Amino acid sequence: MNPLPKTSPSPCPSCTQTMTRLELPQRNYRTLALDLCFPCHGIWFDPFESEQLTPGAVIELFKLIHAHREDSRRQHPATLHCPRCNDRLIAGLDVVRSGRFNYHRCLQNHGRFTTFAQFMIEKGFVRQLVPAEIKALAAQIGTVHCSGCGAPVDIRRQDACSHCSSPITILDPEAVEKALADYENKEFVRTQRNPEALADALMAIERQRRPRNAPESGMLTADLFMSGVGVVLDLLP
Ligand SMILES: [Zn+2]
Ligand SMILES: [Zn+2]
Ligand SMILES: [Zn+2]
Repeated sequence: MNPLPKTSPSPCPSCTQTMTRLELPQRNYRTLALDLCFPCHGIWFDPFESEQLTPGAVIELFKLIHAHREDSRRQHPATLHCPRCNDRLIAGLDVVRSGRFNYHRCLQNHGRFTTFAQFMIEKGFVRQLVPAEIKALAAQIGTVHCSGCGAPVDIRRQDACSHCSSPITILDPEAVEKALADYENKEFVRTQRNPEALADALMAIERQRRPRNAPESGMLTADLFMSGVGVVLDLLP
């Protein structure tokens, strides 16, 4: 079944405001239009749109997410609605190499709503923290924003969000390094880009991993995902 055509930006499944339309390259030299809500940190994907993004499109999305890192963040309501049929969206879960990622999908196959961080897990940039890492982080950072719904999670007492059950995720430099190299490689093959700038960026990421570059103590409610995006993107050419 073909999805209904998207003629104008859809209402956000979370806050119902009109989303931002973004045209991105699609495989087979076509273009697809994604709808994003920056305050809700969410992307609406029609069926197979995420899988159809070119490697360059994934990097472009990654940069755009970074550009909106200072935007205020809205916590999702308990119920999200399909922008096409207004039916209640159902929570779904998928497993990829870097972990589990969740989303909300329409049972009538109109698409799914995924947060930026969950999208990055899907694309291999982000991974879930293991309990020992959460414990170590909890000593420095008390509360983090849930990457699934934006709710605050006290990582001294919880290892998953009590609101939406998303596990605690971090933008892991090692995972980013692998994912970026992978996407840049694929895009290089597509566009014949100079890969040396990437090598420099990856070296810089490696240096950032050292503990002396740990987050400042003032960051009490840290966004592990968004601040990690900043670290990585500042280093990109
Ligand atoms: Zn929204
Ligand atoms: Zn629907
Ligand atoms: Zn949550």
